[in-house]
Amino acid sequence: MSEKRVKGSKKKSCRRCKNDKAVIRKYGLYICRRCFKEVAEKIGFKKLD
Ligand SMILES: [Zn+2]
Repeated sequence: MSEKRVKGSKKKSCRRCKNDKAVIRKYGLYICRRCFKEVAEKIGFKKLD
């Protein structure tokens, strides 16, 4: 019943830096906030500040 390690495909950690804190799963990104900022700039995602 415990599927801790299933090839690591369903982990909640950042797929870029493996950080498991503040991981954004929205939009199927699965990256932490820090990486999100970098990626967001590349894809042109702008925060509404
Ligand atoms: Zn990251």
